[in-house]
Amino acid sequence: MSFLYIERVDGAIATHDKTALVAELQALLPDLQVLHASEDVRPYECDGLSAYRASPMLVALPDRVEQVQALLKFASARQIPVVARGAGTGLSGGAMPLEKGILLVMARFNRILDIDVEASTARVQPGVRNLAISQAAAPHNLYYAPDPSSQIACSIGGNVAENAGGVHCLKYGLTVHNILKLDVLTIDGERLTLGSEALDCPGFDLLALFTGSEGMLGIVVEVTVKLLTKPQSAKVLLASFDDVEKAGRAVGQIIGAGVIPGGLEMMDNLAIRAAEDFIKAGYPVNAQAILLCEVDGAESDVREDCDRVDALLRAAGATDIRVAKDEAERQRFWAGRKNAFPAVGRISPDYYCMDGTIPRRQLPRVLKSIARLSAEFGLRVANVFHAGDGNMHPLILFDANAPGEMDRAEAIGARILELCVEVGGSITGEHGVGREKINQMCAQFNSDELTLFHSLKAAFDPAGLLNPGKNIPTLHRCAEFGSMHIHHGAVPFPELERF
Ligand SMILES: Cc1cc2nc3c(=O)[nH]c(=O)nc-3n(C[C@H](O)[C@H](O)[C@H](O)COP(=O)(O)OP(=O)(O)OC[C@H]3O[C@@H](n4cnc5c(N)ncnc54)[C@H](O)[C@@H]3O)c2cc1C
Repeated sequence: MSFLYIERVDGAIATHDKTALVAELQALLPDLQVLHASEDVRPYECDGLSAYRASPMLVALPDRVEQVQALLKFASARQIPVVARGAGTGLSGGAMPLEKGILLVMARFNRILDIDVEASTARVQPGVRNLAISQAAAPHNLYYAPDPSSQIACSIGGNVAENAGGVHCLKYGLTVHNILKLDVLTIDGERLTLGSEALDCPGFDLLALFTGSEGMLGIVVEVTVKLLTKPQSAKVLLASFDDVEKAGRAVGQIIGAGVIPGGLEMMDNLAIRAAEDFIKAGYPVNAQAILLCEVDGAESDVREDCDRVDALLRAAGATDIRVAKDEAERQRFWAGRKNAFPAVGRISPDYYCMDGTIPRRQLPRVLKSIARLSAEFGLRVANVFHAGDGNMHPLILFDANAPGEMDRAEAIGARILELCVEVGGSITGEHGVGREKINQMCAQFNSDELTLFHSLKAAFDPAGLLNPGKNIPTLHRCAEFGSMHIHHGAVPFPELERF
């Protein structure tokens, strides 16, 4: 997208003499790679949400914990904000840098430190890619369960900071349910260990607090994850529907009948066609919606669950049901789903990925409303999402160079989030709040709740130097924008001021 946005962070940030700072930093840490020329920092201007951009003052690429500690102490002493970045695949502007801040890129921490087969755990550095953990564990018949569609690229540090989900999280839990221990650095460079290798440990559950904290409480420098034994058998059913709402209803009926699928994903016609064109997954391009339902476990259980799901899908109105005939076809069915975002990127100059969560029973109603909004705003919307979790990802297709389309995309996106809150859901499922949804937090939480969030942040980062201006709005911001309460109209993203 071609738009640049002015970064506006709550609270004043001092302006530093960049040349002097770089010289000081290089004298302190001669081995640390630091980028500061405008052409060198440009690739770091945004994460996966490219509509939100800012040039960082400087980019640091450490490869040792001691360097990160020294860098944090350096920043803390000079009151310079620090934004952590993993692989930069985030979709809410969480790793978007600050013009007066340091972007701390953790990608070089890419070593798997230990795989403990007996304990079924792995100790890894934060820059390790999600998929690399399962690949390293595979010779031991183990794997790491949370599998974001970006798993080939995203880092485990970013997964922890966003509490990432994925296709198989319905049955196996989100990131927070699959990690045991974190080693983190506070803004003062102090190393803390949160959690333990045991299933529980005394005291407040700081591990859970840290998971999903979007780089605002500390920097993750080591993660101990749980590994699971690969299921003996897994089968995926692909069910076609001639109506999106019927597919939405089928989701609740499967889970209501007591089957917890390994994954239960839904795609509508626009998404099916885009994915089929890109991946050749074998999807039925004339179906209005498909459900991909995976059942896994012991052979006999899988056979039984397959039959039950098949019957439930037929009763819900499925027009056709295919079971992947072998592992290659199963992988192809999932490849179509996992590549649906880039596939949609091929059919539209720009798209805006929303991420709201709703109670499952509301799926038919919300899908119908999204179709109505799509017609009202004159923009195509492709739906591809974690249906079992009620985690919607409407992809709004637009052309940023066509006058007014960007505004319409933002407006329909805001209306969709409004809808999620109205039906008892939430403004984010797994992509986080970041920069993108900070105003909608004012609609989701009241001032007492937000004050509590600020107190928690202040306990770790009293000066507010870690990723300021993201995730938790100040009460001042909410007062300023509060009149545009999400229940009473669209939230027009007023924090964004265009050049
Ligand atoms: C095509 C596509 C598909 C996607 N599918 C999914 C999906 O299925 N499920 C899902 O949950 N997400 C999905 N995402 C979003 C994204 O991949 C996840 O949010 C992922 O967890 C981000 O990891 P990252 O390493 O890229 O983090 P980044 O984008 O670099 O950073 C994300 C946040 O984590 C913080 N952070 C990063 N590293 C650290 C660290 N070491 N310490 C402290 N804070 C840190 C950053 O400050 C930022 O706030 C998708 C993205 C794309 C582009």
